[in-house]
Amino acid sequence: MAKGNRIAVFMDRDGTITEEMGYLKDAKKLRLISYSGEAIRLLNKKRILTIVISNQSGVARGYFTEEAVKKIHSKLKRLLKKEGAHLDEIYYCPHHPKFGSPQYKKNCNCRKPKPGMLLKAARRFNLDLKRCYVIGDKVDDIRLAQNVWVKGILVLTGYGRRSKNKGINPDHTAEDLYHAVEWVLMKER
Ligand SMILES: [Zn+2]
Repeated sequence: MAKGNRIAVFMDRDGTITEEMGYLKDAKKLRLISYSGEAIRLLNKKRILTIVISNQSGVARGYFTEEAVKKIHSKLKRLLKKEGAHLDEIYYCPHHPKFGSPQYKKNCNCRKPKPGMLLKAARRFNLDLKRCYVIGDKVDDIRLAQNVWVKGILVLTGYGRRSKNKGINPDHTAEDLYHAVEWVLMKER
């Protein structure tokens, strides 16, 4: 892959940008975690790309449709817009290796900690992956970061406190997305 020159912060959705709600299917219940909007706005201002990468195996499991996922993402964009923030792209994986109809039941390359979504973004946005960051609350977010040699930041919102004791070794641990972004901006100063 040709080496790009832009930097992105990859963010998990549930438990990182928005409150963890289990398998969220109702856009009305979507809530931003405090200061998520401000965090993303600061990245926008610094011209660092903001990209969501989200495992949504609820689709494969039949809990909700891709249509519902898209509604949630429209709502997410609206909530962020109110705070003067925007996302450059949202990628999600609807698959699961063990559940679902043939369309969704597969060992895809996009389900985190596999790197598919990240590599797709790298091609599209001409990223220098080594200088990118992954922020998330789950073990798989940090494993993803390690799989592609990107800096991984664990946030303690969502499942973060549980993930912390699972033998992962993030480059940084932060109270929440806002503090994770503060660390990124300190590094990028
Ligand atoms: Zn997938």
